Amino acid sequence: MREITVTRPFLPDIREYEEVISKIWERDWLTNNGPLLREFQKKLEDYIGTKNIVMTTNGHLALEIAIRSLGYPSGEVITTPFTFASTTHAITANNLTPVFCDINPKNLTMDAEKIEALITENTRAIVPVHVYGHPCEIEKIEAIAAKHGLEVIYDAAHTFAERYDGRSLASYGYASIYSFHATKLFHSVEGGAIVYRDSEKGAELKALKNFGILDETTIEYIGGNAKMNEFQAAMGLVNLRHIDSIVEERRLITMHYRRQLSEIRGIRYFEPDLDGRTEYNYAYLPVLVQREEYGASRDELYEALKKEGIFARKYFYPLLCDAGCYQYLPPCDVPAARKAASSVLCLPIYNGLAPEDIDRICSVIAKVGGCR
Ligand SMILES: *Cc1c(COP(=O)(O)O)cnc(C)c1O
Repeated sequence: MREITVTRPFLPDIREYEEVISKIWERDWLTNNGPLLREFQKKLEDYIGTKNIVMTTNGHLALEIAIRSLGYPSGEVITTPFTFASTTHAITANNLTPVFCDINPKNLTMDAEKIEALITENTRAIVPVHVYGHPCEIEKIEAIAAKHGLEVIYDAAHTFAERYDGRSLASYGYASIYSFHATKLFHSVEGGAIVYRDSEKGAELKALKNFGILDETTIEYIGGNAKMNEFQAAMGLVNLRHIDSIVEERRLITMHYRRQLSEIRGIRYFEPDLDGRTEYNYAYLPVLVQREEYGASRDELYEALKKEGIFARKYFYPLLCDAGCYQYLPPCDVPAARKAASSVLCLPIYNGLAPEDIDRICSVIAKVGGCR
């Protein structure tokens, strides 16, 4: 029995990669704003449609740096508990306190209606997540932020290749961050980027990924090291050539899943483009297990799939407000997020996932729920 994991990294033809990295040997330039990095950045600028991009060694440090550039030594940041640990840690690493806002059951992003009640005189920013690439309620969030003089930094780690109202989804807010981790839709092995709004912030954001050094004799900021190296940039450059076919293949996989899942009672999938404004990237395949209707719980389904060698994942469980390391924070009232954390399962999706494998996964799901 072949094991099926929730994701699998995309690897281009090795010759394509070799051809690009051979230039590293010609130039003896391995990191520190090298030529491949600059070429990758230029290609991304064209792809995303902005010149305001800072490349980083991963998505986590991109978020940490974006938050640091707001310049607050302390205060509160409103965020979602239904996310990957990185989002919350990037806030606390900046000595800021996360305040958890509930999510909307519609697409599992931050519930804009619940934000204002959490704003205090200590609130400094809002950090929502386009979770699974589902776009947040952008207009509502930005109207609230503007009204209260707050900046919005989006964790857009899941949104590569997505557009919203014809614009890159990463072009909203004070800044948005991407992750180019190997397990993401588009990757540079490890990697990330900050897409920022105000051109004047560029020099600071660039300095923050390089020890705060502005020029040869000016150490202007307290910064760390978050530089992307030439091998990462080479992988990003090669993979970017394939991005359209990566997304198209995943769209077909998603459609194949949906045809079968729609016949299983109690299993609900998401349609992120109900309003016709989102060009979705099909990065993830989250389903909601509605226990009563389906006939088994999310955890029972997860275990049953595992017995068959199918490794779905409980993204995102536990909620960050329930994580051991955040028990020093006041308890949070997030019923919709709690419900999602106990009923969402991410099904396997990656380039190369065979139709027969999807059929097998769906027949196990149908069987466990007592259908067919
Ligand atoms: C992957 C991810 C990150 C972190 O990105 P890395 O590149 O792995 O550091 C941050 N936020 C979310 C929501 C993610 O899924």
